[in-house]
Amino acid sequence: MKMKELILASSFTILLTGLFSYFIYQENRNANKVIPVMKETQKVISYIQNTNEFKEEYKSMYEQITFHEEENFFHEINCLLHLNYTPIEINELYDFVSHKNIEKLLDFEKMNLKNYYTIPNFEVDKIPRYEMYQDKTNTTLEEAVLKVNIGLDHEFYTQIEEIAKKDDYAILVNKYRFLGQYEPTDLKSLSYDEKYQLRQKAADAFEELVSFAKLENVFIRPYSAYRSYFYQQSIYNTYVNKDGKNMADTYSARPGHSEHQTGLAVDVWSEGLEELKESDANWLKENAYLFGFIVRYTKETEKITGYIEEPWHLRYLGKDLAKKVYESHLTYDEYYDLYLKNLN
Ligand SMILES: [Zn+2]
Repeated sequence: MKMKELILASSFTILLTGLFSYFIYQENRNANKVIPVMKETQKVISYIQNTNEFKEEYKSMYEQITFHEEENFFHEINCLLHLNYTPIEINELYDFVSHKNIEKLLDFEKMNLKNYYTIPNFEVDKIPRYEMYQDKTNTTLEEAVLKVNIGLDHEFYTQIEEIAKKDDYAILVNKYRFLGQYEPTDLKSLSYDEKYQLRQKAADAFEELVSFAKLENVFIRPYSAYRSYFYQQSIYNTYVNKDGKNMADTYSARPGHSEHQTGLAVDVWSEGLEELKESDANWLKENAYLFGFIVRYTKETEKITGYIEEPWHLRYLGKDLAKKVYESHLTYDEYYDLYLKNLN
């Protein structure tokens, strides 16, 4: 082929490829478009009539209530109708409120939940607390729900709940959530010194973090890692004797409430120093998540966590979760309530 023909042929091929790609692109766009389906919503009346849940006096209501496939649905709507919820309200409840909440709703007098429809993490039985907290703090309802769910309408170390899944790598431990005398079963020593231990995945991730940090001229070492319930008890008591309980509580966890007991938390110092240098702290703040860790207690979060700033305290969450929490700019307490609580 001569040069001219070659160029012509190539151009033609490029043109064809381009056209083809454009066609495929348009096809994909159409496929992603949400095409409204005219699906007739089925009303309850056509399903309930032949069951023993059917109540003649509610017949005209059944005609207005949209059918849902939840277990016990007929029983629930009978209860809701009995509590004087209107068909419109019942339809809204099933559209906007979690099923868990609807089940709880049956134990209370009729409530107006409209303000909660856009707040997915609210819990029906905490509504009086949300409203009281909102009145007291003059905050938004959304914020009140989040703070009350964490427990912040009560003093720290009150209304304590024992954590159910203590082996969960995403575990949330704080002043309202208790580990008992839990001991992890997969502790692994860190290469720096075998007396420092973390759970396996956290230990591996920490080694990775330390090696990478070195490449960036950040030289860090572990200072404290896993601590048993009883070790934490002795540390806490020492601080209480030294500074008094109120002061000790701002920087040391009570036994059963320390992240160190999970084997997922590690305190770091700068190599050769008895503290963490500010430049190293700043590096950790921006990079630790790449290895699955977050800086758990910052200056901005003291009121939520109940701890003063601890730039040296890293908590392992795994790379995916650590990235999400880092990017959310929330404390782990808040993130957990918003996105993880209902998965467990
Ligand atoms: Zn710590």
